[in-house]
Amino acid sequence: MDSFHKLADLFREFPGIGPRQAKRFVYFLLARDSTFLSELVRRIGTLQSDIAECGSCRRFFQKRGSPLCAACADPNRSDAELIVVAKDTDLDAIEKSGSFSGRYFVLGGTIPLLEKKSSQKIRSKELIQLTEKKAKAGTLHEIILALSANPDGEHTADELRKMLSPIAKQYSLTIATLGRGLSTGSELEYADSETIRSALRNRSK
Ligand SMILES: [Zn+2]
Repeated sequence: MDSFHKLADLFREFPGIGPRQAKRFVYFLLARDSTFLSELVRRIGTLQSDIAECGSCRRFFQKRGSPLCAACADPNRSDAELIVVAKDTDLDAIEKSGSFSGRYFVLGGTIPLLEKKSSQKIRSKELIQLTEKKAKAGTLHEIILALSANPDGEHTADELRKMLSPIAKQYSLTIATLGRGLSTGSELEYADSETIRSALRNRSK
């Protein structure tokens, strides 16, 4: 395979990118000058050295000499509530809404309703470990499953509820899901702040 198609194949691995868009990206790069290309290569090269995964919530953050991101290291945030989201962009949307001051956990994807090819690794084991640790410490009271209101999101919430229910029972934790302020089919990351605030307020337990 030639260089053009090798690169196009890599772009096809990006979320939501089809073969035609992948080729358009390569043509776009071919049309740019060498300064842009060098900067792009350099930025990609420094991603792994500059960005770390938080040791607690698993979100990506700019390294700053601590294994924890700012939200997990913040002593003013409540340990009583833990929100579980599918991806970093969902966490960003909830943070932006300013309606939550507890802790987070990023799953790293959803559990697909239909068994389809998925390169995503869901951190369900890590979630159970973290929940158990926080529950044992006696600080955690509620787990809020904040998944998108689409079939994969709802399926993921159902599966997580099943996985977490033994710990929830043992430690008397509440498992909640977001209220229907979030309209059916909507992706959490695109929801506006008011919708997120209302979905959190109206969460069902
Ligand atoms: Zn964190």
